[in-house]
Amino acid sequence: MLNLRRPAGAYTSGNRVLDALPAGDRIDLIADLEVVNFAAHQVTHEVGAFLGHVNFPIDAVLSVVATLTNGDTVEVGTVGSEGFVETDAALHSSLANRTSFCQVRGMVGQMSMARFTSRMATSQTFAQLMRRNVRASLFSAQQFAACNVKHSVQERCARWLSMTADRVGGTEFILTHDLLAIMLGVRRSGVSEAAEALQRMGAISYRRGAVTVKNQKLLNDSACECYEACKHAFSSALRE
Ligand SMILES: [Zn+2]
Repeated sequence: MLNLRRPAGAYTSGNRVLDALPAGDRIDLIADLEVVNFAAHQVTHEVGAFLGHVNFPIDAVLSVVATLTNGDTVEVGTVGSEGFVETDAALHSSLANRTSFCQVRGMVGQMSMARFTSRMATSQTFAQLMRRNVRASLFSAQQFAACNVKHSVQERCARWLSMTADRVGGTEFILTHDLLAIMLGVRRSGVSEAAEALQRMGAISYRRGAVTVKNQKLLNDSACECYEACKHAFSSALRE
């Protein structure tokens, strides 16, 4: 979380993209970020809406979903502290091309579009970091397109839970069957089977929407290769 008492050089926001900026660039973030708490299911931007701000998750996890004409929604992106939600903003768009909402409640650092746009225009370091993160998001979306076709529901469920644990920075989070079904694009019964299998092997416990990671290595090992591939893409984007 924001720590305003530390010396400016040691300032951290809790969002890994912003914290990858050089210390000097992070000083002004104190003025540019407003930390807000999002509740689960809270919509952050509706498709087609003007982007009033850019959301940098701290310990919240947000979802980007595609809504089909029959009303079905499918997750097409998940964002935690490794990124920012409104990638369109880094591509010179001021409109949301997808609906986004909070999936796991928590804190988000909000930067106004005006400040984000100004930073993109005036700081090459900031702009490069944001663009590299967009590239990692694009890589992830492509990876998950392959994942949805080739990997089992159980592998995908383990991948998704592993990524969520990394994003919240802890081993416990709230996630309903219905939401997990949307995230994985499968029926609720398919989610139950996958979660029960992971529970039987001792990787997680899952009761009334409360997930507890019991054995992180086992959970990570149960996930498909997409877990490590996407983790690598986002960590590389911070270092180049
Ligand atoms: Zn996969």
